[in-house]
Amino acid sequence: MTDDSCVFCKIVAGEIPAAVVWDSPWAVAFLDINPAAPGHVLLVLREHYEQLTAVPGSLLSAALGELPKLAQAVISATGAQGLNLLQNNGRVAGQVIPHVHFHLIPRNEGDRVTVGWRQGTYETPEEMNRMAERIRAALAGA
Ligand code: AMP
Ligand code: ZN
Repeated sequence: MTDDSCVFCKIVAGEIPAAVVWDSPWAVAFLDINPAAPGHVLLVLREHYEQLTAVPGSLLSAALGELPKLAQAVISATGAQGLNLLQNNGRVAGQVIPHVHFHLIPRNEGDRVTVGWRQGTYETPEEMNRMAERIRAALAGA
């Protein structure tokens, strides 16, 4: 599955250049062209799926099998103190390229990277329980 208008499909196909650091039958990893921090890597599925929810679990398992090794390589190569793994789904969640990919962002004390949210609360324990029940029910119906 590919999409002719998709920049990541073109990189996977070798039609446009990228600084590739790793590849497998299921995924390709290359440097983000506008990095949050030097060494910011994108792990991109070879097949074109717009969002994570569409990806078969077996494909995802295979594609992510070497993620710990890739993360360690990014940390070792950059000397980072930590790393964020991010995956955006939908424009509202910050997804710009609609082809499933994972960001590996090296982190250091005092860096310019911002990843965060203001923590909320549930009004009551019942409200929290109801939400958990809705998600369990959705899973049971899936
Ligand atoms: P997202 O917002 O999760 O869809 O992330 C898309 C990422 O792709 C951004 O961080 C961009 O900087 C990056 N990007 C876009 N075009 C290219 C490209 N040709 N090569 C490498 N990275 C790219
Ligand atoms: Zn694509």
